[in-house]
Amino acid sequence: MPATIAPPPLVGELRFDEATRSERADDFGHIVHRVPNCVLLPGSADDVAETLDWAAHQGRRLAPQGQRHSTFGRSQVEDGIVAEMSTLRKIGPVESDRVEVEAGAKWSEVLRATLARGRTPPVLPEYIELSVGGTLIVGGVGGTTSMFGVQSDNLIELEVVTGNGQPFACSASHNADLFDAVRAGLGQVGVITKATLELVAAPESVRRFLLFYPDLATMLNDARLLAGENRFDAVQGAIAFAPGGGIAFRLDAAKNFDRNAPDDNGLLAGLSDDPARREPTTIPYFDYLNRFAALEATLKANGQWRLPHPWLTTFIGDSQVESVVNAELDALDPAADLGPLGQVVLSPIRRSAISSPLLRLPADELCYAFNLIRIPATDDADEASRLVDANRAAYERVRIAGGTLYPVSALPLSQGEWRDHFGSAFDQLDAAKREFDPANILTPGYEIFQAG
Ligand SMILES: Cc1cc2nc3c(=O)[nH]c(=O)nc-3n(C[C@H](O)[C@H](O)[C@H](O)COP(=O)(O)OP(=O)(O)OC[C@H]3O[C@@H](n4cnc5c(N)ncnc54)[C@H](O)[C@@H]3O)c2cc1C
Repeated sequence: MPATIAPPPLVGELRFDEATRSERADDFGHIVHRVPNCVLLPGSADDVAETLDWAAHQGRRLAPQGQRHSTFGRSQVEDGIVAEMSTLRKIGPVESDRVEVEAGAKWSEVLRATLARGRTPPVLPEYIELSVGGTLIVGGVGGTTSMFGVQSDNLIELEVVTGNGQPFACSASHNADLFDAVRAGLGQVGVITKATLELVAAPESVRRFLLFYPDLATMLNDARLLAGENRFDAVQGAIAFAPGGGIAFRLDAAKNFDRNAPDDNGLLAGLSDDPARREPTTIPYFDYLNRFAALEATLKANGQWRLPHPWLTTFIGDSQVESVVNAELDALDPAADLGPLGQVVLSPIRRSAISSPLLRLPADELCYAFNLIRIPATDDADEASRLVDANRAAYERVRIAGGTLYPVSALPLSQGEWRDHFGSAFDQLDAAKREFDPANILTPGYEIFQAG
């Protein structure tokens, strides 16, 4: 039973009321629910440090929460302390090559500030309403990852409060062991309070093509071709199922530009998609990055935003992709397993672009993000549990084929499985955990380390 010790004086506040606590016992997955003892609304990084110290003295654990878009309770903590990071969201000033942001800011907020100065982070996630801290601790995959790596590869510096309540600045050249343990490190060693993000020139517009293929093999051939060159700035793939039984194999290829529109013929030369089905559009850069907003609006309007989302997110190497994906497609009952608005993501990624050591990838230079975006149209808990089990089985097949987990998935992993997941990088994470969070206070929702 945790000891009762008076809370520290804070710039922000601690909330103990039922409504605040129960709101933090949920996430986008709507599968796992853990009610915290209290919720910190930090007013400063010092508040995070003081509260971690207070947590240690009480024997409680602490989990930062960004936008709660985890799918499996990763930002929740039973009877512990949730640090609601969205109160720390200052941005700027924006310089030509960098911007300093507090970690609770959303990418959409960062982007609006940087675009006002003609700059952009080089990599952004598909959905820009995620928090900076929440994506940096998983890596942060986006359409431009093949070129620029994940979001956690595009950092100049992080400010972190470690589990033992100590503030540190870290970068590739200063406290590099901490920097490498935080980036894609699943929040195990520190709470990110601030990040200095790299910026590049922002384009004004995007020429975007939806390209349709008759089958997986043809789609993969073009994915390989495009991943081998820099013809487009972003190439993402998806497989969607029509209610009547049709199946669409699609690449979404985007080319950035400023004044002069690119030559469509040059961009599409040698591709094997069906020319009659091509859907070209020209849209402002921000609208392109905000493309998930339309699906979000649909899901909010029809109530499905509030239903369980047992997503599976993995990486699979090129050498195995066709056989693994074909087997998974054969095993899928699209209506029940994905739902009418769900889909399979299959996006090419060049491994060599990624340098965050804790992001685990298959051995092949060309990999694919292979995700089952399940949006079942039911709130039946048994059905959600069936799909979590299906995730486990599918992940096992991916793993046997040399694939890896992107840990934002909805499935439980034992400590031994996490160790296997991190492989040769586990010792690095373990050493950092011992040094920076020896009492194992931080981010218990991943269940990587034994409770103290
Ligand atoms: C609709 C949707 C689209 C998505 N698209 C993408 C995508 O394109 N690419 C991609 O990579 N991922 C994507 N994701 C997954 C997403 O990146 C992760 O789930 C991410 O962790 C969620 O961020 P969040 O701000 O909601 O964090 P939360 O869910 O609140 O937290 C996630 C984890 O981060 C920890 N955390 C939060 N803030 C901090 C902090 N400041 N310091 C340390 N730890 C912290 C939490 O404790 C928790 O473990 C998507 C998710 C959804 C729901």
